Amino acid sequence: MFSAGLVNDPFGDPGAYIEFSFRREAVLFDLGDIHFVPPRKLLKVNAIFISHTHMDHFIGFDHFLRLCLGREKKIQLFGPPGFNGNVLGKISSYTWNLIENYTNNLDIYVNEVNENKKETYRYRLQNGFRPESVGQAEIRDGILLEGEFFDVKGISLDHKIPCLAFALEEKDRVNIKKTGLLEMDLPTGQWLLELKRKILGNEPNDTPVRIWSRKKGSDFEEERSLGELKEKLVIISPGEKISYVTDVLYNKENCRRIIDFVRGSEVLFIEATFLDEDSRRAQEQNHLTARQAGDIARRAGVKRIVLFHFSPKYQKCGNMLEEEALKAFKGEH
Ligand SMILES: [Zn+2]
Ligand SMILES: [Zn+2]
Repeated sequence: MFSAGLVNDPFGDPGAYIEFSFRREAVLFDLGDIHFVPPRKLLKVNAIFISHTHMDHFIGFDHFLRLCLGREKKIQLFGPPGFNGNVLGKISSYTWNLIENYTNNLDIYVNEVNENKKETYRYRLQNGFRPESVGQAEIRDGILLEGEFFDVKGISLDHKIPCLAFALEEKDRVNIKKTGLLEMDLPTGQWLLELKRKILGNEPNDTPVRIWSRKKGSDFEEERSLGELKEKLVIISPGEKISYVTDVLYNKENCRRIIDFVRGSEVLFIEATFLDEDSRRAQEQNHLTARQAGDIARRAGVKRIVLFHFSPKYQKCGNMLEEEALKAFKGEH
């Protein structure tokens, strides 16, 4: 249903890109250097979650904004307390008199996340990117963004400043049985997406579903009940979870919170900035060592880890960070 990968190599700026198959939709975790991400992939992004605004996590904002300028787009940004000030600072560092000539709508929503509240601001190109206050809302169950097929949750961790970690949780997976379609003599097509939507929205079984196809000039149209289609056509399986944790101090409280938050993830993106022999330095700079990252992942029962944010000091021996983390992940130390 989706693919997830790092934006750069593990020594580059942190960031993960998650793309949904068959949909023009993608999500970014962190917004560091994104020059290596092809523009067509960046243009699919409509939500960006920024852990904190240290430069290596936010320098890509200008690049992204420039790419979007002439496009019809609505973008949601999420960041920690003070985030709107950072965005405002970036936007007000440019002169915008020429955007009067643009006819497209580019709306940027900035969501400042503070514990279980979010404060939202809007910057509209058509309004000269002047900040507008949208209001405050409560965050329930940590859900920052509720999508049709997934939710993105966030928690605040200690990096000597608040730093957010994120988890994308896919809703149930609705798979269509090809044999079912053949047996019922029904076409494939757009209507299947509508069917999935109705199932994920828990609509009642007697809801009518319009089945249609315009393929090869032979129009097909009929109606069946949601209940019948569910029974004969559909396999529902639980969705997957992808988590992203970076720039955190190794302490008891952070560990407890991370383990709770990322538990059961299919993939955990986690920083592994230093080797354990440099754990003092890691502590001073509020980062995890590879061993700590592997250990956290093992205790949280995640299936797979992807490591990043390697310190440049290990440029020639990145494999040592990988090996150390994997050893801890397998419980071999
Ligand atoms: Zn960082
Ligand atoms: Zn940082």
